[in-house]
Amino acid sequence: MNKKLFSINLNFDSLGEAYGWPNDFYEDNTFIKGIERILRLSEKFNTPITFFLVGKDLENKKNYDIIKSISDNKNVEIANHSYNHLFNFGSRSEQVIYDEIYRSHELIYKCTGKESKGFISPTWSVSQNVIKSLIKLNYVYDTSFFKSIFLYPAIFKIVYSHIIKKKFYKAFQIINRRDYLIPFKYECRPFFINSKMEKVTEFNNESLLEMPMPLLNNFKPPIWHTAGYVFGWDYIRKNLKKLFETHNTFFYLIHPADFLDQNDLDKKYTLALERMDKIDYQTKIENLENILQYIKSNDYHGTKLIDIANLYCKK
Ligand SMILES: [Zn+2]
Repeated sequence: MNKKLFSINLNFDSLGEAYGWPNDFYEDNTFIKGIERILRLSEKFNTPITFFLVGKDLENKKNYDIIKSISDNKNVEIANHSYNHLFNFGSRSEQVIYDEIYRSHELIYKCTGKESKGFISPTWSVSQNVIKSLIKLNYVYDTSFFKSIFLYPAIFKIVYSHIIKKKFYKAFQIINRRDYLIPFKYECRPFFINSKMEKVTEFNNESLLEMPMPLLNNFKPPIWHTAGYVFGWDYIRKNLKKLFETHNTFFYLIHPADFLDQNDLDKKYTLALERMDKIDYQTKIENLENILQYIKSNDYHGTKLIDIANLYCKK
């Protein structure tokens, strides 16, 4: 694999999800304004976006119509981020996990006419039942492995921000998961895995490509956009530079919070998302542009995640 490729892995955590899906909430600016902003960026940098959608969002007619209208855009891939975005997803029963993936899979198919081939767990909560269900549903790749000790402070921060916003149930769900050590048994480069969580040598209908969060080693935070808000943009550039030395392909993880601001919120509801109150969306877009510019100036070509996955699977 000589060509240098990267993908934008957009975990499309919606405002509907953050508010707890209130019955009277229809105007979700994650979809209404967010998608427009991110697609403008995609066009400007000639870089596709892989949207990992929360299935339940597609039960909102407005969201459904927006996704339908962009699903044939050649710069768009629609992938699966589970149905309910349960914070303890990986530690639920086999049946619950299968249903969570399947319901979202079906909604995406109904809306786009295409089967989703990629998955990421909510809050990187992964288990054997997740992998098993994905293989059963013919998925090609998963990006749920977060193999860094920084998983713990990242999770802690999510728990903390839910507690201060009095979202105790979600906070409890996050603490109550038992999957924290799973990714540490594996490497941080893409590899194939079967339903028994064994590493295997090739991709077929009994295996899946696991593409872990990109990182330099287990003792460093993975390289994703949120880290720029915590450690600074120089930190991101420095670490990307090191990543470039050894990785011909990688994905860069972003969230809607990276291009929404407080004016996009519905003040009727509360939420525990980080960085929504201080920075305006224009500044956030600039931050994204600077990083994309940097990646592209190092000769990486943007592509959908499924295209990188297919290269590994030689499909
Ligand atoms: Zn998410």
